[in-house]
Amino acid sequence: MPIGIDWGGTSIKAAIVDGANLRGFTRVDTDAKAGPAAVLDAIAALVRVLDPRTDAVGVAIPGEVRDDGRCWKLPNVPGFEDVNIGDELHARLGVPVGVDNDAIAAALAERLYGHGNSYKSFLLVTLGTGIGGGVVLDGNVRRGHGGFGGEIGHVMIDSTDDAWPCGCGRRGCMEAYAGQAGLLRRYAEATGKPAPSRVKEVAQAGDAGTEAVWKQLGHALGTGLASINNVLDLDAIVFTGGVAHSLPGFEPHIREALRARAFAPPLAELPFVTSKLGEHAGVIGAAHLPVAKG
Ligand SMILES: [Zn+2]
Repeated sequence: MPIGIDWGGTSIKAAIVDGANLRGFTRVDTDAKAGPAAVLDAIAALVRVLDPRTDAVGVAIPGEVRDDGRCWKLPNVPGFEDVNIGDELHARLGVPVGVDNDAIAAALAERLYGHGNSYKSFLLVTLGTGIGGGVVLDGNVRRGHGGFGGEIGHVMIDSTDDAWPCGCGRRGCMEAYAGQAGLLRRYAEATGKPAPSRVKEVAQAGDAGTEAVWKQLGHALGTGLASINNVLDLDAIVFTGGVAHSLPGFEPHIREALRARAFAPPLAELPFVTSKLGEHAGVIGAAHLPVAKG
């Protein structure tokens, strides 16, 4: 059975994957600044512990992967430019290895074992430190020409000069407002209090700051998703990531922004659902990625 690896930059989740079921799930923390060799060695060590005789390994990574398996660049992990993670792991383990972006892997898992059974065309939206996406059209995950398919966090929703800065180096991206840093900034501005360190704590606060955060998150998502759905006319949006648990809090704000900006009324009424696979989608999807080396 294949082993799925979900490397998020600061931790590695790994399991033997049997369909949608995990066996021997394990997780270790990694130092984002340790460099490629240390991360690759840690992944290889986990694989050997789980099953030294596994026949294939799939890895989900926090960035985009070129057709030939090389990383473009990992925005939050230095040193991975042009590193071919598949080749490096194949050299260490001697088995076929598949590698792709974490949101694309999660979308593949959802396509196979989650809402993909009800919806042929959907966008999986990951809500966390950043905003990621995976596009499934007519039953097929679309990774795009260079692996950037579904990179929705950097759809521009504010082109004014004082738009909020984004981690990508530009301004006014959906992620600048709907990602963790933007939501915490909003909480601090709305309450005059220091923001907590995580959005989860904002959700638990249940005060006026929480409502201001949900309004900004919903408005940013609805504005960006209107442009995306005007192009794709999807069957549904599937939300995942830690903040997705709070969907009832910000869903009305997404709908309001979507209705104000959709080209035609039906484009604003698509269902919003949360992932059926939760935090394991990345590991499950990784194990099902196509492998590059025999
Ligand atoms: Zn950006």
